[in-house]
Amino acid sequence: MRKLRIGDKVKIIAGKEKGKIGKVIGFVKDREYVLVEGVNLVTKFIKKGWLGEGKEGTKVKVEAPIHRSNVMVVCPHCEKPTRISITIEDKTHKYRTCKKCGKYIDKGVSKQEEKQKASESKTKKRKTTRKVKESKI
Ligand SMILES: [Zn+2]
Repeated sequence: MRKLRIGDKVKIIAGKEKGKIGKVIGFVKDREYVLVEGVNLVTKFIKKGWLGEGKEGTKVKVEAPIHRSNVMVVCPHCEKPTRISITIEDKTHKYRTCKKCGKYIDKGVSKQEEKQKASESKTKKRKTTRKVKESKI
C-alpha cells in the first residue's frame, strides 16, 4: 500500500514552496517525485504548431515535480501535516493512519482491491512517463 496517493492533500515542508498546500495530481520517476496542483509552477514554452497546424506558440504554467520527502500528507481529521502509518485489521484490510490523531485517513483496502489498483496505476504511470518526455522536447 502506498503512503501517498493521487488526490491526497499535502503540505510542502521543504524547498522554495515550503508551507504551500495542494492536492497530489500525479507521480513521476517511479513515484520518487510528486506533482502537486498549483505548487512549484514553471513556465513551459509551446512551439508554434505543436498544438495543431497553424496554432501559435504559447507559454503555459505547469507543475514541476517535487521530491516526495519534501511533502507531508495533511490529515483530513486533525488538519495537520502528518506521517502515515499503515494499519492492518482483520488480516485483510489495510488502513492509512494519521500518526498525530490516530484516525484512519481513508477507508480500508482489501488485498483484492489493492491488486486491482496496482494494475490501474501501472497504466497511469506509463501515460505520465510519456507526457514528461513530450514536454521536454
Ligand atoms: Zn490526524
